[in-house]
Amino acid sequence: MARLVIVSNRVASPRERAAKAGGLAVALREALGTHGGLWFGWSGETQVNPPDTPKVFRSGRVTYALLTLDPDDQRAHYAGYANGSLWPLCHYRLGALSFRRAEWEGYRRVNEHFARALFPMLRPDDIVWVHDYHFIPLAAELRKLGFGGRIGYFHHIPWPTPEVFLSLPSHAALVNDLSHYDLVGLQTEQDVRALLTYISSEARGWIAPGGVVGLRERRFRIAAFPIGIDADAFVTDAQASVGSEEEQRLAASLGGRQLAVGVDRLDYSKGLPSKLAAFGELLNRYPEHRSKVTMMQIAPVSRGEVAEYRALRRELEELAGAINGEYAEFDWVPLRYLNRPFQRATLAAIYRNARLGLVTPLRDGMNLVAKEYVAAQNPDDPGVLILSRFAGAADELSGAVLVNPYDVEGMAEAAHAALSMPIEERRERWQANWEKVRTNTIHRWCETFIHELVNAVDQFDGPSDL
Ligand code: ADP
Repeated sequence: MARLVIVSNRVASPRERAAKAGGLAVALREALGTHGGLWFGWSGETQVNPPDTPKVFRSGRVTYALLTLDPDDQRAHYAGYANGSLWPLCHYRLGALSFRRAEWEGYRRVNEHFARALFPMLRPDDIVWVHDYHFIPLAAELRKLGFGGRIGYFHHIPWPTPEVFLSLPSHAALVNDLSHYDLVGLQTEQDVRALLTYISSEARGWIAPGGVVGLRERRFRIAAFPIGIDADAFVTDAQASVGSEEEQRLAASLGGRQLAVGVDRLDYSKGLPSKLAAFGELLNRYPEHRSKVTMMQIAPVSRGEVAEYRALRRELEELAGAINGEYAEFDWVPLRYLNRPFQRATLAAIYRNARLGLVTPLRDGMNLVAKEYVAAQNPDDPGVLILSRFAGAADELSGAVLVNPYDVEGMAEAAHAALSMPIEERRERWQANWEKVRTNTIHRWCETFIHELVNAVDQFDGPSDL
């Protein structure tokens, strides 16, 4: 088996423990351990005139290479084009989309810098797997330097429909960049359709069965690889939490009340204001839930360097205060709003004790919290997942109660129905969800993508009449 090379913005260092590193980081580290490999990313440091050579160290069978970036380029790349242009665009938030040529150029310079540093470390038969929207141009830059081996790209966030995608001034260049990969992985079939439609209607490319695409002289494949979680790890953590000191503290604090939980990075794509408003609406419409249901919204602060995120934080603080001010009793606070991170074991305990899992993003590539909530449930007495139809996970989790996150009253109604849902229906719905979460794990996702990348090039015959 050839060597695997993974490129991502942040690299989970070998010292980061599994309980703290995300499921993806752990799975990628395992894949590198199995195949032997190189993990290439940003060192987290900036320096004027940074060197073209990364800091390299080994841990077991994995080599880590961390590159330092120029501070202006790093800002233009990360807070600028990646999170100021691509993130809102791909989450259908055109109102938040900003585009500046200097940031687009900074984004490309960072990708060139990455390619220059990575190329000398590559062997011709390496398999390179690039992660996420920070590095779309990386394959094109590596090809310019002469790398002819296999390169795959996985886009962790949604791919927007052509009407939305065309708002990005650099749309054509970006799709041309994609064509330098051999395999482009997206989260859902809907995302695949969106990109294929753009390619056939706007970019004048051709499409053959299996998602094989021809764009100018390039041939590549586009397919859906819905990402999963480490289901076993969540089950183990959730089971271990039963009767633990933490669980007892949680139960004591709830005093026999039902718990509704939300866990989302503090990001405008997550629909947090509408979710909090829906909880307020539940208490407003159905007074029988007052003093009986507590909501816990965990929302770790994210991307504080981007203005929209700071504004969202203020908005949520105001909303949370308003809901508590309106409905709290001297012995009950309706909404617990927390901005801090938690260990996976603590999250698993909270999920397991929550009758409702509220996952209501306005748009989400997949949403792993939805899957984690399912995995952590007690099969005998499972909670109900209320899930936005605009999360990629909605494609798979047919047992969830699907909601439109723009419909605050509809979400309140769904929460009310779920709170009184009979146990048989809760079990049936959970079983359907668990079947998907259990089988489509992060490990299977990793193996499938790598397998398809290895085999992608053999499928590039294309239409015979062209
Ligand atoms: P995104 O990738 O957009 O943040 P996902 O729902 O796909 O959304 O993944 C979020 C991940 O971050 C989940 O694995 C979740 O458990 C984790 N997470 C979210 N909030 C916290 C927190 N407060 N502490 C620890 N982990 C968290």
